[in-house]
Amino acid sequence: MDIQNRVDEIHLKFNEDLKKTKLNGDFDNLFLKYFSKSSGITTLLLKELPKLSAEEKNKYGPVFNDLKATQKEAIEQAKILHEIEQVSNPLIDLTLPEKPAETGMLHPLTQVIREMNDFFRYYGFSVAEDREIETVEYNFRKLNLPEDHPATDLQDTLFVKQPDILLRTHTSSVESRILTNNKPPIRVVTPGKVYRNETANKSNSSFFHQYQGVVVDKGITMQNLKATIETFLKFLYNTDIKMRFRYKYYPEVSPGMGADIQCTFCSGSGCEVCRYRGWIEVLGSGMIHYNTLKMCGIDPEVYTGFAWGMGLDRLVMTKFGIPDIRRLYGGGMVYE
Ligand SMILES: [Zn+2]
Repeated sequence: MDIQNRVDEIHLKFNEDLKKTKLNGDFDNLFLKYFSKSSGITTLLLKELPKLSAEEKNKYGPVFNDLKATQKEAIEQAKILHEIEQVSNPLIDLTLPEKPAETGMLHPLTQVIREMNDFFRYYGFSVAEDREIETVEYNFRKLNLPEDHPATDLQDTLFVKQPDILLRTHTSSVESRILTNNKPPIRVVTPGKVYRNETANKSNSSFFHQYQGVVVDKGITMQNLKATIETFLKFLYNTDIKMRFRYKYYPEVSPGMGADIQCTFCSGSGCEVCRYRGWIEVLGSGMIHYNTLKMCGIDPEVYTGFAWGMGLDRLVMTKFGIPDIRRLYGGGMVYE
């Protein structure tokens, strides 16, 4: 028989055998049938190559090699596919009731808030939420923000009813309620939505989320504050994050301390995200002001405490790669 015909015949036979093997999964047997050293069909054909004339060798050498490679690859691939099917599709029982479809997931903000809550619960904090419609007293006065402070201005605050009822401008209002209504020791975190009189754009919204915390007890010092913030930031970012602390002014604390992390995008060399500073401010904190404690009915001669607060929206945007804050609150689907 002509050599080419034999090659074609072997190829056809192999394809038939491969089809059958795909059903029974016995790929090892198929391999042996064609490639066993002593009696494999393709092996025997290849063994004939040295016996051919020089001209035939040139012609059929590549053809034989091609046949061998094609068959081996076909067996290998079919075997892998077969294994995948076995794993993903074990015996299907069509009589079982169908599983309910799983749709939706937690909002990124909710995910982050829950992670943080778990972290602080582990360290003995309670999680407190409170009203979003607040009085001027709890939102400003008890936090050492005097009547003429710029933050109380109409420009920043959304009033529900002038002059006393407003949409809280920070979750520190929860802090002042907790300090007023509880006796130390106090360890509480307060996640929540806050409101400002701002026009929405890519990075600002008229409402956003804050995460604050407050600790009051005997003998609380800056050292406790710093250790808490350090542990927390390591948890939020990673354990080898570089951070620095700076003196800052906030009316409800004294002294105030801002915490920066080294920009994770440029490792401190400067980029658009950090506005070429190399550092990103992530959190404000400080020792609770003497007057704040006093106005909330806690004796500042006996107790001291610290508080911190941070915006959550930017953090969530960075973490999930969300370029526009309005996406966090918009109902529409966005495909990019
Ligand atoms: Zn940077």
